[in-house]
Amino acid sequence: MSFSTSKKHNNVVRSGGDDVIVIGGGVIGLACAYYLNRMGRQVRLLEAGQVAEGASNGNCGWLFFSDALPLCAPGVPTAEALRLIRGTSPLKLDPRPDPRRLLWLLRFVLSCRHAHLRAALKGKLALLRQADRLYAQLRTDEGLSGEYDCQGLLMVHRSAADMAAYAATNDLLAPYGLGADPLFANALQRLEPGLHPSLYGAWYYRNDSHLRPDTLMREWHRLALTKGVAVEEGVSVQRFRTHGNRVVGLQTNRGAYRAHAVVIAAGAWSLPLTHQLGYHLPLQPGKGYSLTFPAAAGQPAIPCYFHEPNVVATAWQSGFRLGGTMAFQGFDLTIDPQRVAHMESAGRAYLATPPAAGEGECWAGLRPMSADDMPLVGPLPGWANVTVATGHGMLGLTTAPSTGRLVAEMVTRRPLHLDPHPFRLDRFRLLRAEKQLVRPFFLDNSRQLLA
Ligand SMILES: Cc1cc2nc3c(=O)[nH]c(=O)nc-3n(C[C@H](O)[C@H](O)[C@H](O)COP(=O)(O)OP(=O)(O)OC[C@H]3O[C@@H](n4cnc5c(N)ncnc54)[C@H](O)[C@@H]3O)c2cc1C
Repeated sequence: MSFSTSKKHNNVVRSGGDDVIVIGGGVIGLACAYYLNRMGRQVRLLEAGQVAEGASNGNCGWLFFSDALPLCAPGVPTAEALRLIRGTSPLKLDPRPDPRRLLWLLRFVLSCRHAHLRAALKGKLALLRQADRLYAQLRTDEGLSGEYDCQGLLMVHRSAADMAAYAATNDLLAPYGLGADPLFANALQRLEPGLHPSLYGAWYYRNDSHLRPDTLMREWHRLALTKGVAVEEGVSVQRFRTHGNRVVGLQTNRGAYRAHAVVIAAGAWSLPLTHQLGYHLPLQPGKGYSLTFPAAAGQPAIPCYFHEPNVVATAWQSGFRLGGTMAFQGFDLTIDPQRVAHMESAGRAYLATPPAAGEGECWAGLRPMSADDMPLVGPLPGWANVTVATGHGMLGLTTAPSTGRLVAEMVTRRPLHLDPHPFRLDRFRLLRAEKQLVRPFFLDNSRQLLA
């Protein structure tokens, strides 16, 4: 299979053949590029927009190393269906029938089993522990901090019933040393006076931390450039040039590139990119929002998850952010005012000094959601020199360093610092219907993607 170029100027070869080309300038792409460079490779990172223009910019900044449980767990489909009916779910599903989304949902529901929960927990634990260690190393060795702070995290509940129900989650994590401590009304107020005094209580994860993602991304981008990674912005990969089972070059809006090895780390857009190589990833974009406010007195110093409305609040010295919601609406980044109002109303219910409505800077980003809520990291089946790193869902910022290092070890054929098995792409046995989605999807989505 090989794609020829159509426009004359696109035949110009812009790069003399870097060792590795990384596609995507989000936190995962940057982490891959950084570790590949540290392992002695000549790396070029191509980003369609600007570095950190995707999900890695306006997210909530949690380094939630205790979050080892996958979203798909027994009981979740029924509970979420009931919340959807009641109108209290953070989920929003585009009602238009879309075979890719339907098949993804089917896979998600089928993953809500005890066996998956146990296996996923083990895989995530390793990825999270290594990420914690590597972030510490990046802070010490490279001065990469991104406004890092370690205050722990609070799962906050308004009702006794909701707080009691969370105990089951805690029981699953406690044997791994990840349990949280319960705090009730007055004790919670003493610890975090930025919360509303009417709240019932919270589970306190003492060892987790947070940073400001936009600051981290700026620092990491600068660091990568200093180390010699060639970062090119405004370069959108459109097609692959192939020879046998190898990708030998990339066609972009700015010309052609030769490559010896390719890493696809394009977040949710890894789906149409891998389709061009004839492979279907069980991946969907999960849209989330955030509202960013200037720093002000009274904001909680400890990051909080308002559990009933599923809204996150994170404060840094430089600002304050509310974030949440999960909308499955394809690659559409339109902002729904109702969802924004939902986050503002959660702020009023849970915060002692809520920010004024309408004053937050609104942002939307697409989480790359895999159908079993496990990252998709490893060689692309059928291709000898293509590695994929996506599907990090709600934990991409947290797990970026261990993912980046794992990818670099795979590409450079070094011993791996963690077991890649839980993240391999071929863990999904693709249905015939999914295989048939590949070509039509590329044809219709490439227009949106590359417009
Ligand atoms: C509201 C919200 C809150 C979140 N909070 C947290 C949190 O607190 N902690 C946490 O760990 N995670 C959080 N996440 C999840 C996290 O943001 C994502 O998992 C992570 O950013 C994914 O990174 P990525 O590099 O895979 O994708 P992205 O950041 O989306 O990067 C992909 C990049 O690829 C580029 N690209 C796409 N197609 C092409 C192409 N053809 N050619 C070249 N470039 C291309 C895009 O322009 C984009 O910049 C949150 C997400 C959201 C939406």
